[in-house]
Amino acid sequence: MLGTIIKQSMTIEVCSNCYSPRISPYMGFETGKRYICQDCENIIVVTFEFESIDALAAFLKDKQEAENS
Ligand SMILES: [Zn+2]
Repeated sequence: MLGTIIKQSMTIEVCSNCYSPRISPYMGFETGKRYICQDCENIIVVTFEFESIDALAAFLKDKQEAENS
């Protein structure tokens, strides 16, 4: 395969509050799809999706640099 590594296509969902990928489904039949974040312990409705953990890492790096500049 000429040394090419094709990464498995999957998205990573993160907390919209603290950008942690450590979110668990929080079930509620009447309230719809929710998650609970294991890092900030917020119940979140909106998640951010990234193409990969690398994309998330790049985003967080850019965000950090923007905040520090
Ligand atoms: Zn969080």
